[in-house]
Amino acid sequence: MAQGSHTREWESQMYTEAVAQFDRVAELINLDSNVRERLRYPQRSLIVTFPYRKDEYSEVETLFGYRVQHLLTMGPTKGGIRYAPDVNLGEVAALAMLMTWKTSIVGLPFGGAKGGVRVNPAELSQPELQRVTRRYTAEIFNFIGPNKDIPAPDMGTNEQTMAWIMDTYSQEVGHTEPAVVTGKPPALGGSVARREATGRGVVSLLPAAAYHIGLKLPGARVVVHGFGNVGRYAAVAAAEAGCSVVAVSDIRSGIYNPDGLEIGKVERWIDEHGFLDGYPDADPVSNEELLELPCEILIPAAVGGVIHKNNAERVQARLIAEGANGPTTMEADAILADKGTFVIPDVLCNAGGVTVSYFEWVQDLQNYFWSESETVARLREIMNRAFDEVLSISIKEKVDMRTAALIKGVRRVAEAKLVRGVFP
Ligand code: NAD
Repeated sequence: MAQGSHTREWESQMYTEAVAQFDRVAELINLDSNVRERLRYPQRSLIVTFPYRKDEYSEVETLFGYRVQHLLTMGPTKGGIRYAPDVNLGEVAALAMLMTWKTSIVGLPFGGAKGGVRVNPAELSQPELQRVTRRYTAEIFNFIGPNKDIPAPDMGTNEQTMAWIMDTYSQEVGHTEPAVVTGKPPALGGSVARREATGRGVVSLLPAAAYHIGLKLPGARVVVHGFGNVGRYAAVAAAEAGCSVVAVSDIRSGIYNPDGLEIGKVERWIDEHGFLDGYPDADPVSNEELLELPCEILIPAAVGGVIHKNNAERVQARLIAEGANGPTTMEADAILADKGTFVIPDVLCNAGGVTVSYFEWVQDLQNYFWSESETVARLREIMNRAFDEVLSISIKEKVDMRTAALIKGVRRVAEAKLVRGVFP
């Protein structure tokens, strides 16, 4: 059968792009053709339909849920569960593949997975969300487990969702099993520093990246797009590292102060008001303007596709550290490369989240918990080692950092597949 003729099940733009990206790297490294064919498709894909009761007791609705495990070769699979109105098998499969590369790039003993429920969580009450989560968990029960597949939060899910999944799973197996999910509340065996992990991980790479491009980090102006989980803690960590965070934004708008924002004050403002607008010690800017502000470092930490062919030329940052997944389009990548902008790609840059998730899983399995300083030190070590290795591939093979990161991720997985051989 011709390559690609049996991808229909996962057909979607995201999946096509994920495979095209993989194929490009496979070509570059002259990947074994059998391994290449195996890695183009997820190993397991589960679609479930299930009912849940609305708060109006007589009303029952049917939902679609998914769990895709891209690669079982490296150990259990790992990846988030998202609740969103447009989730589909193709999207979940693409994200599962990206998780394989991300975990491989930082050297974790996992393959990639992803899950989702096609539902708008904003339209559900907490009791409804709890019923959806418990029933979805029951439907995928045989698929997940501490040694099989370990979910985590993603868009539309959070610590509470993970607590419900952990409880439902534990009820089924008959004992408490914290290691079945990560991103749990600390009271249930969640790791300290998980909440801040992705943002901290992003900033932990700035010193090495700045050194590489000859940029002085202390005093460097940083712009952060998005002030949620990733953006907020990236801004805090950047300020701690001596940078001047001049602008941040949320879904509505941004704030800009060329002399530097007082991040603690911005945090207090958003906790109190929910949004940044109205913040007193800064000028308002739109999200579009924010990306083009004068700065040395730009941290996109909100949504995908925000740096595109129509604005890439005007992005002034010398260094872009991708906190969000997929913030730069392929066309923008080419424009930035021409301008000499150094990009730390998402698969490497935001891997701090899954790294501390890995720490959480290890701690739960051992029932032995680490201190915050231990956790942060180990996070920095893993992130920096991965950065150094990706940078040296980029220099040696004369490719950009995104390609270098994928080369590293794909190579490790391919090597494991080849030495394991084909069963039977
Ligand atoms: P979040 O929901 O906590 O925060 C998102 C932030 O972006 C909020 O401030 C929100 O107001 C803002 N925002 C949303 N839509 C926007 C838009 N259209 N324009 C400008 N701002 C917008 O989400 P998060 O967990 O911080 O995730 C952000 C990105 O990082 C996502 O791409 C996610 O996939 C990626 N990511 C997150 C983690 C993690 O550990 N949370 C790990 C890896 C990657």
